[in-house]
Amino acid sequence: MDYNRIIMDKIYLDYSATTPVDRRVLDAMLPFFNEDFGNPSSVHRYGQKAEAAVETARETVARILNCLPEEIVFTSCGSESDNLALRGAAFAARSEREAKWVLTSHAEHPAVSRTAEQLASHHGFQLEWLDVDKFGMVNLNAVENALCDETAVLSVMVANNEIGTINPIPEIAGFCQARQIPFHTDAVQAAAYLDLDVQHLKVDMLSLGAHKFYGPKGVGVLYVRKGTPILPQQTGGGQEAGLRAGTHNVPYIVGLAEALRLTAEEREERVAHVRPLRDQIIGTILEEIPDTRLTGHPVDRLPNHCSFVFKNADGNTLLRLLDAKGFACSSGSACKTGNPKPSEVLLATGLSREWALGSLRVTLGMQTTAEEVDKFLRALPALVEMARD
Ligand SMILES: *Cc1c(COP(=O)(O)O)cnc(C)c1O
Repeated sequence: MDYNRIIMDKIYLDYSATTPVDRRVLDAMLPFFNEDFGNPSSVHRYGQKAEAAVETARETVARILNCLPEEIVFTSCGSESDNLALRGAAFAARSEREAKWVLTSHAEHPAVSRTAEQLASHHGFQLEWLDVDKFGMVNLNAVENALCDETAVLSVMVANNEIGTINPIPEIAGFCQARQIPFHTDAVQAAAYLDLDVQHLKVDMLSLGAHKFYGPKGVGVLYVRKGTPILPQQTGGGQEAGLRAGTHNVPYIVGLAEALRLTAEEREERVAHVRPLRDQIIGTILEEIPDTRLTGHPVDRLPNHCSFVFKNADGNTLLRLLDAKGFACSSGSACKTGNPKPSEVLLATGLSREWALGSLRVTLGMQTTAEEVDKFLRALPALVEMARD
C-alpha cells in the first residue's frame, strides 16, 4: 500500500487527536477550490457541477454506512454532528411526546457531555449519567434500567478517544429499538478502523469527523435514520434537506467522502499495520515500567490505541519531556491539553487522582513505523521516572 509518506522529523504518535490529509484525498479536493467553485444551490452549470460532486460524495458515504443518501447530513465537524444529534433529537422529542430525559455517560467526548449538560442547565431537560465499568465500557444493565418512555435521546460512543474502549453498540441499540427511543452514537474515533454499517450497529444517528481518518479538518457527517424526529439547529437556506443550513463546503465534503472510501477499502491492511505495533507498545510498557496500568479495555479497544496511567507521575510534564525528545503524544483528549484537572473519563473508570493525573495516550497511524515505535519504547522509561520526581 502507498502510505504516501510525508517527511516528519519528529515522531508523531497522536493520531487520535488528528491525522494528516492523505495525498489522494487532497488531490480529489483541489479542483473544487477554484476550477469547479460553484455553489451547489445555483441553477446554472457551475452550480450543477458542484451539486453533482456533493451528491456523489453523499452516495459514497451512504454506501459505506449502508444507508440511504438522504440519511446523510454534511456538517462542519464531528462536534457539530454530536450537537445536532443531541439538541435536535431532544427538542423534537419534547415537542412530539413530552420526553424530558437525556441519557449519556461520563466517558463521552465533551461534544456530547457538555451538550447534554447544557440541555439540562439551560433548556429544562433532566440528565442521567450512565455507569461505566473499570474499562470505561457502558453497562448494559444500566442502559436497560435507565430507559423510560420519557427518555428523549440516548448517546453512547462507539469507541472512546481517551482510552480506546469499544462499547457494545448493537446491544445498547436493541434496548432503544424495543422502546422506540432515538439512539445516537459518536463514531468519530471509531471511523478509522471499525465497521460503520448502521444497520449492523442499529443506531438512529451516528457522527463522523473527517480529520480522524486522513480527511480534512472542519467537515463532518451526521447520519440520521429516516423517520427519526430531529429539529434543525442551524436554520437558513434549505440545504441538507433543511437539517443544516449553510452553503456546502464542496471541497471538504468531497475530501471527506474520498477519505472514508479509502478507509473502508484499506481497513484490513491498516488494522494489520497498527495492531501488532500497538500490542508491542502495551506489552513492553506494562512489563518495563513499574506502577503502570493500561487504561481502557485490554481486548475490546481500538487497534491503534494505547493508553496508560503511571502512578504519581505528572502527565503534562511527561508530555513536555516527550516533546523535547521529538515524540508527540497526548494525555487523553486533545481538547484538554494544558488542563491539570484529572480526566473525567479516567475518574469515571474508578481511578484515583494519584493515578489519573499521570496519563499517557499513544495512538498510531498509517505512517507509524516499527523503528519509530522502538525509539519511543527505548526513550519512555527514563522520561516517566523524571515525570515522577
Ligand atoms: C475528535 C472527536 C470529536 C470531535 O470531532 P471534531 O471534528 O474535531 O469536532 C468528537 N468525538 C470524538 C470521540 C472525537 O475523537
